[in-house]
Amino acid sequence: MSGVTVIIVAAGEGERFGSPKQFSLLKGKTVLDWSLEKFEKNEAVDDIILVLSRLHPGDEYLRKYGKITAIARGGEKRQDSVYAGLLSVNERQAEVVLIHDGVRPLVENDLIARIISETLEKNAVVPVIPVEDTIKCVEGRRILRTEERSQLFRSQTPQGFSYSLIKGAFQKAMDEHFYGTDEASLVERMGKPVFVVTGSRLNIKITTPEDLKIAEALIGD
Ligand code: C5P
Repeated sequence: MSGVTVIIVAAGEGERFGSPKQFSLLKGKTVLDWSLEKFEKNEAVDDIILVLSRLHPGDEYLRKYGKITAIARGGEKRQDSVYAGLLSVNERQAEVVLIHDGVRPLVENDLIARIISETLEKNAVVPVIPVEDTIKCVEGRRILRTEERSQLFRSQTPQGFSYSLIKGAFQKAMDEHFYGTDEASLVERMGKPVFVVTGSRLNIKITTPEDLKIAEALIGD
């Protein structure tokens, strides 16, 4: 058994963007459709759990994507939405769970494949990109210090985990009302090792209207 389930979270209300960015149009289809297609077409992926807010019906997605086995209903924070997705995972089938932001439409097959194979070996894997800008810690408008960047990396999704490990990490975090900014941080706080692989600079997260323009340019004609 080595079932691979992908949880795609798309239940955000888009506070920073003004409207939910996963439904913005990118070259003729929504950002979320781009993301879903990448996993639907990847042969190593067995099934997809899509997490949507209560405001968005899921029937359209169930009809369009054969690999979607469940629509879960998201919560207030991203972590609540991922947890809702995890609760819909078929425990008997899933060995590996990938968690992906619905707003990363340009994720490549090669990265998905590397995350899956590394997760089978290491149990917890995160794609990262080295930080190249100098990072300042700022309070108000005043710089407090300059961080040592050689050990700093930006984390992306999909993050991959063995199902039992991520389920345990979420249960502990939710029981203790701990909220992290990504899934890996919940595993890290249990003292379990999490490993990195090189992410992709194309795998951008659509957060602002400018990001949409960048994504359009990256897709090209
Ligand atoms: O808000 P942020 O940029 O971190 O969102 C990343 C992804 O998490 C988006 O795809 C968004 O729809 C999703 N999300 C969610 N539930 C929330 C907040 C964000 O599914 N409560």
